[in-house]
Amino acid sequence: MVTAKARAVDGPDKSFREAEITRRELDTNDVLIEIKFAGICHSDLHTAHGDWGEVKYPLVPGHEIAGVVTDVGENVTKYKVGDRVGVGCMVDSCGKCENCQAGEEQYCLKGNVPTYAGVDKYGETTQGGYSTHIVVVEDFVLRIPDNIELDKAAPLLCAGITTFSPLNHWHAGPGKKVAVVGMGGLGHMAVKIAHAMGAEVTVLSRTLNKKEDGLAFGASSYYATSDDQTFEELAGTFDLIINTVSAKLDMNAYLSLLTLNGTLVNVGAPAEPLEVHAFSLIPQRRSFAGSMIGGIRETQEMLDFCAEHDITPSIEVISADEIDEAYKRVLDSDVKYRFVIDTSTI
Ligand code: NAP
Ligand code: ZN
Repeated sequence: MVTAKARAVDGPDKSFREAEITRRELDTNDVLIEIKFAGICHSDLHTAHGDWGEVKYPLVPGHEIAGVVTDVGENVTKYKVGDRVGVGCMVDSCGKCENCQAGEEQYCLKGNVPTYAGVDKYGETTQGGYSTHIVVVEDFVLRIPDNIELDKAAPLLCAGITTFSPLNHWHAGPGKKVAVVGMGGLGHMAVKIAHAMGAEVTVLSRTLNKKEDGLAFGASSYYATSDDQTFEELAGTFDLIINTVSAKLDMNAYLSLLTLNGTLVNVGAPAEPLEVHAFSLIPQRRSFAGSMIGGIRETQEMLDFCAEHDITPSIEVISADEIDEAYKRVLDSDVKYRFVIDTSTI
């Protein structure tokens, strides 16, 4: 058993505090990882604040994990001590169902095991990456390419794959007009990745405050959604819209921006229902879809794609004592564009 230092929260309105957690003894196919960096995803806030329902406290969030292998179980073949690795939003799945067999473990029919606030096959509540060590079965560990620094690799494990997967699935590429709604952690990755895939990218943000950054990330245009004129001007324009917004929006207004056969994919996960009128979909045979992270094989593909295209997130590295402040700033959309905890400060 390994004792890890961590930062935990004890309730929806509580501050983070120092904690000690134990990681299980290495099973035959387990890898022990010394965590170096952990990204802060808005899902960590939703979970810690109880937005999505009750959770078990104390909670150690964090599912954007980058580190180095420090020990391996006796049957591990994929990794060795010293390897640079990552862990994303899930740490296990049944491995046998149709979806797992197809490499879509995130849609495991028995439910995947989330990296934190889940229950693993040993009956233990999982605890996430705001900690110094984690034990994960090798099949859910990713290899970080040599040319991606560990601090910048961390956000790829959620923000990267959550945007790469729908862009890939709905064929963003040359000749496709893609809009990204909300330019936070996920949104800024969506812009960089869609641009690298060859699509023409437009950002739809509330204001024009981050326009210069959006254009530098690869967008060819940038509009403020607070301006009604935007919706008139862009009506019927996009083949694909990726909505990354963490709050409830009027989906009908965004659906009106799709062209014939266009798809709006929702990856943002507000607690409130999103209402869609039938007549927002019917007239142009539009689709309204959702997408959850990505499978392990696709996550490795995403990491290799980012390495090849020299894509990394824009980050602000913080110490463990700054987590509460970072949460406030995420809620205020005051983040450029992902907070990453240096876990040596835990
Ligand atoms: P984030 O960094 O906070 O970015 C969210 C962005 O949404 C903000 O930067 C802001 O963009 C916009 N926004 C925030 N509040 C808004 C409001 N009230 N009205 C309109 N726009 C608003 O969050 P994130 O980490 O990217 O996560 C985004 C969402 O995706 C969260 O709900 C998270 O739980 C979810 N998520 C889903 C998956 C999945 O598998 N589907 C995976 C990870 C995360 P502008 O400033 O540009 O307007
Ligand atoms: Zn996430």
